[in-house]
Order: sequence, then structure tokens, then C-alpha cells
Amino acid sequence: MVIRSQKTFSLTGYMTTAVILVHLFLAPVLYSVILNLYKESSSDIFITHANNIAGIIAHDLTDTDHDRRKARIISVLDSAVLSGDIIFIDIIDSNNQLINPQDKLLISSNLFTEDSDINQHDDNIYFMSVPIHLVSKDHLAFTLRLGFDESSFIQQVSSIKQRIIIILLIYIFAMVSVFTLITYYIHKPLKLLQQKSKTIAQGDVNFPLQVPTYISDIKDLSDDLEKMRTKLIEMAQHMQLQATHDELTGLPNRYLYTDRMHQAVSLAQRTNQTFAVLLLDLDRFKEINDTLGHGLGDKVLQILSSRMQDGMRESDTIARIGGDEFSVILINVDQAKAESIAEKTIKLIEPIINAEGHSLTVSASIGIAVYPYHGVTPELLLQHADVAMYHAKNNNHNIATYKKSMDSNTYEKLMMVNYFKSSIAEDHFHSVFQPKVSLSTLQPSGCEMLLRWRHPYLGLIEPDTFIPLAEQENVIGELTRWAASQCLNKFLSILRDIPDFTVSINVSPVNLLDSKLFESLLEILNISEFPPSNLIIEITESVIMKNPERSATILNKFSAAGIKVSIDDFGTGYSSLAYLQKFPITELKIDKSFITDLTKDSTNYPIVKASIALAHDLGITVVAEGIESNAVHELLTELNCDSVQGYLYAKPMEFTQLETWLEQRELTALSD
Ligand code: C2E
Ligand code: CA
Ligand code: CA
Repeated sequence: MVIRSQKTFSLTGYMTTAVILVHLFLAPVLYSVILNLYKESSSDIFITHANNIAGIIAHDLTDTDHDRRKARIISVLDSAVLSGDIIFIDIIDSNNQLINPQDKLLISSNLFTEDSDINQHDDNIYFMSVPIHLVSKDHLAFTLRLGFDESSFIQQVSSIKQRIIIILLIYIFAMVSVFTLITYYIHKPLKLLQQKSKTIAQGDVNFPLQVPTYISDIKDLSDDLEKMRTKLIEMAQHMQLQATHDELTGLPNRYLYTDRMHQAVSLAQRTNQTFAVLLLDLDRFKEINDTLGHGLGDKVLQILSSRMQDGMRESDTIARIGGDEFSVILINVDQAKAESIAEKTIKLIEPIINAEGHSLTVSASIGIAVYPYHGVTPELLLQHADVAMYHAKNNNHNIATYKKSMDSNTYEKLMMVNYFKSSIAEDHFHSVFQPKVSLSTLQPSGCEMLLRWRHPYLGLIEPDTFIPLAEQENVIGELTRWAASQCLNKFLSILRDIPDFTVSINVSPVNLLDSKLFESLLEILNISEFPPSNLIIEITESVIMKNPERSATILNKFSAAGIKVSIDDFGTGYSSLAYLQKFPITELKIDKSFITDLTKDSTNYPIVKASIALAHDLGITVVAEGIESNAVHELLTELNCDSVQGYLYAKPMEFTQLETWLEQRELTALSD
């Protein structure tokens, strides 16, 4: 929908134009109506007066007594002439012959032109005639003709005209003034409202929208707008609260917390003060959630939040920044003070919590970082508080303050170490599979299982990073068992189609020396009904070289159980094949560092060539890994290598992808 902006005018503009237009029309009408009324009434008076005088004169002329008639006519004429009213008089007979009834008659130079109305014929004289009967002259009919001076009447009319104009002008002026005043009183509060609304629209909502006015409609409007403003503020505050606070505990959330951290840093910079960041993580909170339910978990979080809040000063910020993670910003506090506050906080958390019929205790670990010693940015401070917190947790302390020795490398390690077990339980680990292809048939001969870790905080981690740590932390056994138990049974259907298909799993040196692994692998094979002869364990040559006797004992157990043994990363340990011959080895896996860039001219070429030949002599099959090009593929075919594995054929993939990949291979093989 297109909204066209409509042309608008101001209220004052409308009102003034309206008043002026109305009066442009009204003024001439009023003017002519008043003037006509005046003219009519005054001409009536004038004519009646003239008629009266004419009547008297006519009557006097008919007096029978000659002397008396003369005297009266003289007196009437005198007074009429004196007053200047009559400026023409004569008498004519029926033949229109002038007779002079009296010497004293006044004759105007104007010619008699009878008027039917006043101010006719532009001669300034009102001429009228009256029939008379002069007694002395044989009752003949005569006409008395009179002329009255109109100039005073005309003067009066023109002065009246001026007065009407003045009165009209005053009236129009008054009208315009009144309207302007009214408009002003309407417009002023409206204008004010408009200005205030504009400031609100610009985001400044702190000015009340009410305006002083005597006009009730505007007052109602302004009251309503004010209500709307307060409602808006309330809504904005509510939304702000929702956006910046954690719904469950009502504490500031991570968003607000980050903001406060920045404020704390700039305040500390300005005032040269220190401040501390505490990072608190509840111990084994997950267990509470898992065993007693999330409802109770929430209740516990609420109770603990309010306990912690009670122990804080107004100026401190306590925020919930994760599921069971809280952080406190302690303004103007040094390390010693921060540590004592942390201890106090632990004491606040420890007492028994009674909730929903359960009594339980919760402990926590707190890491402390102090500005500026342990970081000058919010990110670094929080990260270091986190490092310290993990340090505390791992060493069974409640509190630890960050030290340089817990560096960022350690931080990632700690993050990994702390999440191994939960990641196994929560399926953050998963296996991918990379096919092996037989060079003689070009058909898949098996696959290698490779682990991946989707760390909840560090993201995807490659095995080269976490396997050494898992070994160090002694969780590699658990990890391998978990991986095998997760995937082996899935392969049963593949084995029905390709009976020789092998699954290789990497077994770390630590694994190998752990006698439990063998037992548990057997158990897993048993449960999953996966045939031992289709399983290959890959072990690096270095482990055998380090502890040959122990290795031999264990490898023999595997071999006796029907499980095949492959020497992984062959070539990197410089061990001689002849020596390895003592161990029950069925496969040799030449390390990718020898293979990927292999050419006939490379120094590795004779090693690869000799290794393949010797292995074959010893009845060991050879797998080359890391094939990325056709040239290397050709070379290895020429060298009689048994199987190949590499990006040229397939990258490690999810199990379902592997299934489709195998199906497609089978189809192309059938069509060949
Ligand atoms: P590895 O046993 O030598 O595994 C082969 C590695 O080479 C895999 O890396 C694989 O993705 C990679 N690769 C395969 N083809 C090519 C290729 O054509 N070119 C190149 N550049 N690389 C190729 P990945 O998956 O990152 O595994 C790295 C190492 O982690 C493995 O080396 C293995 O030692 C270890 N690892 C992986 N999964 C496990 C496990 O479940 N247990 C133990 N103990 N170690 C494992
Ligand atoms: Ca391997
Ligand atoms: Ca390798």
C-alpha cells in the first residue's frame, strides 16, 4: 500500500483564511443592507417632512382672508427659506402657466423636474407638486410646485457611509482578533503537544506530555497522550528488564553483565582503582537436575541466587551467565577483599536447602580475577576467572585466584579435561569412518573409525588435539570402549553384503597397556555379534618398541581371539620390519607422510617399495594412507600395495554417508 503524504496547512492558516473569506463576502452585504435601511428611513422622514410643509403651504394658500393668507404664507415661507429647506417654489395653472402668487416667492435657477424619490435627477433638489384651490380665482385648479434642498440629506448619507465602513472595519478587526486569540489558545497547547511528541519520537521519553490548556478536548487529548507515554515507558522498562535479566532468578543476564563489565573497566581506568571478577560454578549441579528434576534444579538456583544477592553490596553486580554459572563484579575491591567475599559467598551457598520436600546441600567453586593484574579487558578477566575456577574445581578448592601459571593453553586443556566425561555421557563425541579400498579389485575392503568431538564450549576439536589429552587424563580407555560399543553393531548389515569388510579402530599405547581394554572389546564384540576377524586394531609401532614384552603378550591375546593387528603410522618410528615380525601382525599401514607426495624420484620411494615387498614376504598385507592424487594411486598399484585409504577415494564420513557410499560403489562395480 502506498501512503501519499497529504499536503497540510496550519490551524491558524485555516482559521485566518476562513475568517477573511467569510468577511469578504459578509462585509459588502452588511454594508449595503445597513445603508439601504438608513436611506429608506431617512428618505421617508425627508419626504414626510416635505409633504407636511407642502400641505401647510397649500392650505395657507386657500385661506379666504387675503391678508391672513398673505401673512401666513410669508411666515411659512420665511421659516422654510430661513431653514434653507425650500429652495424652489411656484404655482402653475392648469395650462402650466406660471402665476406669481407672491413677490416674495423664491425661485431657484433649476428647472422643475418632479421627483418620485429622494436624490433623483442629480440636481440636489427634491421637486414635488401639490394641487391647490385658490379661492379668489374662480375655483380654478392650480399646482403648487416646491423644491426642497437635498444636500443635507446627501451629506448625511455619505457620512453614514463612512461610519458604516469604520464600524465594519472595527467589526472585522475584532472578529479576526477574537479568532486569532481563540486559534492561539487552541494552537498553542497543540503545538506544545506536537513538540513534546516529537521529542518522544526521537527517543527522549522523560518529559510529561501534559500541557496547560483551558480547552477540555485538548486537555483530554493531552491526558490520554500522557497515559500513553507512561504506558510506553512501562513497556520499554519491562522489555529492557526481560532483555537484560534472567527470567528464572531475576538476576542480570550475560548481556547486562557484559555491559557492567565494560563500565567497571572504564570506571577503574578513570579512578585508578582495582576491581574483582568472581566466577562461580556450582559443583555437580547437573546431578541435581538429572536425579531430582529440572523443577527442583530451578528452585535451587532461585534460592542460591537470593542468598548470594543478600550478601552483596548495592554497587556489586551479580549475574547469571550460564546454567549454573554466576559471576560477580566487585567494584573497588582488591585481591584480599575479593577472596574474603568469595569465602563469604561459599558460606552463603553451603547451608542446607529445603525445597519441594528435599533437603540438599550444594557446593561451588569460585575463580577470581582482579583488574588490572589479571587482565584489562572484560573478556580476559572473565576468561582468567574461568581458568581460576577450573583450577579450584580440579584441585578440590572452593576458591582460586588467577595466576600466570594457569595460562591460556592450560585453559583450553582444562576445558577439555573437564568435559571429557560429560561429553561421553551426552554424546558430544561421535565417530566418522574413512573407507579403505582394495587396489586389486578397486572395491571397498574396510574402513577406519576416527573420533570427533563437538565440545560444548570450544566447538569441534580434532583428535590430534584431544587424543593425547585423553591419554594423559586416562579417559582414552573409556573413550575407545564407548566408540566401539556405539558403532560395531551398526556394521552387521554391511558385513552381510561384504563379508570380508573390516573395521579398524585406533588403539592408543595407553589403551594397549590397559588389560581391561581387551576384556571389554571382547565383551562388546560378543554383545554386538560382530565377528572378531572383521575387527582390526591399529597400534603405532612406537608403542611396541617401547615395551616389547608386554606388547607381545597383549597382542597375542588379540590375535588368539581372532582380532587382526595393524601397525599404524609405519615408517615414523624407524623400526625394522624384521623385528616386528615377532609380533602377531597382519597389516602394515604406511604413514601418510611417506605417501601423499610420493613420486618415483622421492627419497621415500625406495622405503615404500622395500616395505611393501618385505611385508609381502612376511605374509603381511600393506595399506597406504593419505592418497590424494591419481599419480600416487598408479604408483602404489605398480608397487603392488594391497589397499589404499585417502581423500582421493573418500574423506572420513558419518555412518549413514558410508552406507550410501558403499551402495554406490557396489552399483558401479555391477555395471562395470
Ligand atoms: P591416523 O590413525 O593416522 O588416521 C588417519 C588420519 O589421516 C585421519 O585424521 C584422517 O582423516 C587423515 N587422512 C586420511 N586420508 C587422508 C589424506 O588423503 N590426506 C590427509 N592429509 N589426511 C588424510 P584424523 O581423523 O584427524 O585423525 C588423526 C589421528 O587421531 C589419527 O591418525 C589417530 O592417530 C588419532 N585418532 C583418531 N581417532 C582415534 C581413536 O578413536 N582412538 C585413538 N586412540 N586415536 C584416534
Ligand atoms: Ca589409524
Ligand atoms: Ca597414520
